Amino acid sequence: MNIHEYQAKALLRQYGAPVSDGRPVLRAEEAKTAAGELDGPLWVVKAQIHAGGRGKGHFKEPEAGEKGGVRLAKSVEEAAQLAKQMLGRTLITHQTGAPGKQVNRIYIEDGSDIARELYLALLVDRQTSRVAFVCSTEGGMDIEEVAAKTPEKILTFSVDPASGLSDFHGRRVAFALGLQGAQVKQCVGLIRTLYKLFLEKDMEMLEINPLIVTPAGDLKCLDAKMGFDGNAIYRHPDIAALRDETEEDPKELAASKFDLNYIALDGEIGCMVNGAGLAMATMDIIKLYGAEPANFLDVGGGATKEKVTEAFKIITSDPNVKGILVNIFGGIMRCDIIAEGVVAAVKEVGLKVPLVVRLEGTNVEKGKEIINTSGLNVIAADDLSDAAQKIVKAVKG
Ligand code: GDP
Ligand code: MG
Repeated sequence: MNIHEYQAKALLRQYGAPVSDGRPVLRAEEAKTAAGELDGPLWVVKAQIHAGGRGKGHFKEPEAGEKGGVRLAKSVEEAAQLAKQMLGRTLITHQTGAPGKQVNRIYIEDGSDIARELYLALLVDRQTSRVAFVCSTEGGMDIEEVAAKTPEKILTFSVDPASGLSDFHGRRVAFALGLQGAQVKQCVGLIRTLYKLFLEKDMEMLEINPLIVTPAGDLKCLDAKMGFDGNAIYRHPDIAALRDETEEDPKELAASKFDLNYIALDGEIGCMVNGAGLAMATMDIIKLYGAEPANFLDVGGGATKEKVTEAFKIITSDPNVKGILVNIFGGIMRCDIIAEGVVAAVKEVGLKVPLVVRLEGTNVEKGKEIINTSGLNVIAADDLSDAAQKIVKAVKG
């Protein structure tokens, strides 16, 4: 689960990390009061969407002189004006894709003067199974280009969970960032704070880009992105409350309400599978036979008829889906129950695209009989490979 920059900065502030003063704005009428509560003489007006690259992004149907979702203002009036102008518009960045995202919230912040822009992130490094610090002297809006062209300028240090974090980790990051004197001490403190926050809130990712050095030589977090482990959210009602459902894919949102493990993808073949491993294998074999999966979906071991129906609704609501492959291995769940669920779901939701069903495991013969005598236009398949070939053929001709 991701949160907005202004929410992430509130958490940083709460833990004692250096951030500027700022005010979120949800309605145009609030903009002037919000800006007036900040000191100036520089204000930053920032579109709040769950995507990076706002500074270099552009609005759909831009007005003259308009330059992206992070703008500097020199007066309260100008800041309020910019906030009003951005609210409700669609911002397109390299992370949003072509459709862009609607800006429903603005963050107005006290502007900072910048001497250097650095990059700092914490993440769970799957290769080492450790929390890692990723840092670079080349922070700011071109970090993707740095990663692509000069990856040696991005350094990674991981923390051994057995011995935990020590000041030397902070010093390592400080020296990698070219910091000196009092800044090193500030950096050691910041690294401690971020590490604590990261662990306590069960984060997956915490990115500060840019971390700036001000002309006075102080460190400050100028941008903040946080992602939290969805499986641990139940432990953090304060974080769960920050969820902004308008930022999520409607299909993924519907799936989460029914406890379905669904991830939307770009392909044309909708998949309904039980078990994450089998779902991955199903996606692989669809690709092997020359098509692309429209989603990952694990309906789980104890899928009920209601869950199967819901899964069908979500899959068929995707206009890209040109065919559906149901691949179920009946273990704890019996194939006949699944077959009944599939038939009931198809009858309820209707079916405008070819459907291939492959069943295996407990009560498979009974399950196949239910499918075959259902009167529905369902293509039965014998095994995984047969199923994949049949659905690809039905879709691609
Ligand atoms: P992003 O483009 O979505 O990553 O948004 P950021 O919050 O990182 O802002 C983009 C860029 O705007 C930063 O890299 C800075 O160069 C600039 N910027 C952001 N806040 C300030 C500020 O307070 N003062 C100045 N001078 N520039 C800022
Ligand atoms: Mg940024």
